[in-house]
Amino acid sequence: MFVNHCTACDKSMLIFPSQVTGMARIDGVIAMTYTCWCGAEQLWHDGVKGGQPEGSVAEIA
Ligand SMILES: [Zn+2]
Repeated sequence: MFVNHCTACDKSMLIFPSQVTGMARIDGVIAMTYTCWCGAEQLWHDGVKGGQPEGSVAEIA
């Protein structure tokens, strides 16, 4: 489980796996959709990477 700030009820809520409705991995970033305690569909992702691909610095031919 994890904590996420809901944009609908404006609260930071603890989210349990049973509330998660979907998960995807996009460009190395994990994205999850879940239903908040208030009933709103929300998106969580661990994207603090600013769009930089992983390991690109060491990738030389
Ligand atoms: Zn909410």
